[in-house]
Amino acid sequence: MRAVNQRGCVTATAAERAYLDHNATTPLEASARQAMIGALGLGNPSSIHEEGRRARAAVEAARAHVATLLARPVENTVFTSGATEALALALQPDGPDAYLLIGVTEHLAVLDGHGFARQRCEVLPVDAAGRLRLDQLDAALCRTGERAVVAVQSANNETGVIQPIAEIAERVHRAGGRLVCDAVQSAGKVDLETATHEADLVVISAHKFGGPKGVGALAWRGATMAPAPLLRGGGQERGFRAGTEQVAGIVGASAAAQAVPTRVGAMERIACLRDTFEAELRRFAPDAIVFGAGAPRLPNTSAFAIPGLDAQIALMALDLAGVAASSGSACTSGKVRPSHVLAAMGVDPTLARGALRVSLGPETVAADIERALETLHALLQRARPRAVAA
Ligand code: PLP
Repeated sequence: MRAVNQRGCVTATAAERAYLDHNATTPLEASARQAMIGALGLGNPSSIHEEGRRARAAVEAARAHVATLLARPVENTVFTSGATEALALALQPDGPDAYLLIGVTEHLAVLDGHGFARQRCEVLPVDAAGRLRLDQLDAALCRTGERAVVAVQSANNETGVIQPIAEIAERVHRAGGRLVCDAVQSAGKVDLETATHEADLVVISAHKFGGPKGVGALAWRGATMAPAPLLRGGGQERGFRAGTEQVAGIVGASAAAQAVPTRVGAMERIACLRDTFEAELRRFAPDAIVFGAGAPRLPNTSAFAIPGLDAQIALMALDLAGVAASSGSACTSGKVRPSHVLAAMGVDPTLARGALRVSLGPETVAADIERALETLHALLQRARPRAVAA
């Protein structure tokens, strides 16, 4: 039941919430939940008795499904505790001369540079639409050649802007380097094989496509691309990642991976909803800016700002009205920071501070979008009553 609180804001019960924050995390797929419950009591996959063998069989079946999603050989697919760890595994220098080239709009999990010293790390600019400047990549590759490890995301978490991975890979390979692709935001939204086909190493995180949090995977094409072990010890994951496997989480990731074609199949409808959202937003706020609109984007993501509308106030009003959205600022451990992504795209800092993001999922319906629009319209009418179109 919806109600109006003392300040005249529409409030909503938990049952009718519109979850529009799928780029932060996705609701757990029912099949993943069920598979995980079934796997919670399994043994240690390294044990040789029957309980252990059953757990090993579950992990290896899961590996086959995740390798299929990543379109990489099953023997080159390693489970990790999430994408951050998978990226740390992938981003290790393979010699003292190795050089890391990264896009400026990468997630903090890449921008950290992991095993690379600061002076062996170069951050490459993007254009106003958020796409990597290929001329700058070429120039950097000229300087670094085969020493280059290049890390570029397939799609941005804040704006949904898609990077031209095939063109980037072609340039990196011509120079003799290797390409690590953070495909976290693409899994479950676009065809992953097409999006990342030419990359040498690919990283995903299960909770972005209906799986549990705390499970990721790294996969590579050929044996020469194999990373050096990061966590050493018991030799699990063929020595690439020691530590007893998170069996139930891995099984959940596998169930979610099997449901990915269905999620991707829903994206045509989701893209229509997202486009409707942006068109309606522009109807009552013609000065609204949609970030990255000039580039190919994920079908589910809309990052925007309405001049004069404060992002934190808007987020609170949306939350009260039952809409879970997020600000364009990267929110890390509860701290809201100015968005390095929007800054890199040359967005005015005042406008960037008002940035909001809605990210849709397969279960999003038109009523969810309408509720977000209603709330934003009402807020704007209060903020600037005369200027807002009815
Ligand atoms: N890369 C991108 C593009 C992301 O959006 C995220 C999480 O938001 C990560 C990496 C880190 O993933 P995880 O939380 O699994 O470590």
